[in-house]
This record gives sequence, structure tokens and C-alpha cells, in this order.
Amino acid sequence: MSRHVSIVTGASRGIGREIARYFASHGYDLILVARDEAKLAEVADALRAEFGIAAEPIAVDLSDLAPAARAILDAVDRMGRLDVLVNSAGIFRFGTSIAEVEDIEAMLRTNVLAIHNLCKACLEPLQKSGDGRIFNISSIAGVEPFAPVGGYAASKHALVGYGRSLAREQLPSGVKVTTLCPDVVDTDMGAGSGMRPEEMIAPADISRAIDFVMALSPAAVVEQLTIGCKPPKQGVRAEA
Ligand code: NAP
Repeated sequence: MSRHVSIVTGASRGIGREIARYFASHGYDLILVARDEAKLAEVADALRAEFGIAAEPIAVDLSDLAPAARAILDAVDRMGRLDVLVNSAGIFRFGTSIAEVEDIEAMLRTNVLAIHNLCKACLEPLQKSGDGRIFNISSIAGVEPFAPVGGYAASKHALVGYGRSLAREQLPSGVKVTTLCPDVVDTDMGAGSGMRPEEMIAPADISRAIDFVMALSPAAVVEQLTIGCKPPKQGVRAEA
């Protein structure tokens, strides 16, 4: 039997790279997606060397919906199966009332439409897996309001609504869908928060959350998981 296969978007850095490493360490072959071809190749080379798995880098802009889906489905065909889809790729732009319309549009395209596009394209092979999983990375801004980041919150709330609805739609098909909602994570994106690394969630905590969900018994369903940060002690939070 062929090895299990996972697609991880946003695999060139941050949370996606860490999740790719988690699946490689569990013997999954990988389809790694992001725009930066050189960084993706580096990640793929390192995971092949360390874990002896197959890793195919696909350098595409996920906001180019049709070409991205085509390139990724071609890779699924080459791998011969698909068991897990992790949608980690995402962008952040600042602002609520002052946000540029173009910035909110870009976030809705990358953080919502591109994820629907991949879920839609991948459902058939995931259903064939018999134990298909989708993990979408939303944010705590997808379940709580944050005054300065309304555009980002709009995209992440949309993703929670979409992911939870997809989870219910797909229950009879056997594909389980979980939306993860972390607070600030120690990555390039998290660096903009002004928090210190030790105040932030570690990228590996997101893999641990995935591991927890995947280890549950077949009857268990986790539609959404929120991971908060411990509030900083008075005076500990760095200046933004
Ligand atoms: P990051 O370090 O900025 O990495 C973002 C990843 O997404 C990169 O691999 C980037 O690759 C990829 N990406 C962005 N736009 C893309 C596009 N149009 N097409 C293909 N790939 C694209 O961010 P992160 O912290 O790992 O965040 C991962 C996810 O977690 C995001 O959805 C983010 O909103 C969410 N999240 C982050 C935090 C946090 O504090 N870090 C907290 C909660 C939720 P390229 O640049 O190579 O394309």
C-alpha cells in the first residue's frame, strides 16, 4: 500500500513549515505549496533527507485560483492518493475602518476563497482515502473582535463559518474538517505583534493540536479548536 499523502500550504515558512515537518516525521509523503520556489525547495530537500519521504514542492500563488488547483491536483495524481489537506497559507494586512478595500479584498481572496478552492478540488481524493482530513488555520481573530485588525478578522471569521459548515456537510462522507484558531504564533506574521517570542504560541504547538485531533477515536469530531496565549505579566509585553 502506498504511503499516506498530505498537502500543506504555506509550507515555505512559519506554521506551515512546522506542520509539514510533523507529517514527514509520521511518514507521510508531502505536497508542499507556497510562492517562494527556493524556500519551498529547501524545505522539501531537508524533509526528504531527514525522514526519507517523498516531497513535491509546488510553487504557485494560491490566489490564482484555477492554475493553483490544477497544479496541486496534478501533484495528487502523481502521488496516487490524498489523506490530509492543511490550509495554512494566509496573509495579514492591518486596519479596520482605515483598511484599504484592496487589502481586505486580498485577504478574502487568500484567506477564504483560495481555501474553498482547494477544499473543493481535493474533496474527491480525500473521500477516497477513507480517513480524509482537512485542517484550516484561522485565528483567534476568527472568533473574537480585535479593534485594529477588522479586515483580517473578517477573513478569519469567514473561514471559521466556512470550515465549520464544511465539517458538518462532510460528516457523512467520512472527511473530518477542523478549524484551528490560534492566538499569536512565533512566526514572521507573529513578529508584527510586538510580543516577545516566549509570550507567543510555538509553531510546534499547532502540530501538537493536529496530533491531538488525529489521535482521537473515529467517533470524535473537533470542528474548531482555539489556542490562546497566557496574558503577559504587567510590564512584560514589549512595545509594538
Ligand atoms: P507566515 O510566517 O507569514 O507564513 C505564511 C505562509 O503562507 C508562507 O509560507 C507564505 O509563503 C504562504 N502564502 C501566503 N500567501 C500565499 C499565496 N498567495 N499563495 C501561496 N502561499 C502563500 O504566517 P504564519 O504565521 O505561518 O501563518 C500561517 C497561518 O496561520 C495563516 O493563515 C495565518 O493567518 C494564521 N495565523 C497566524 C498567527 C500568527 O500569529 N503567526 C496567528 C493565528 C493564525 P510564500 O510567501 O512563499 O508564498
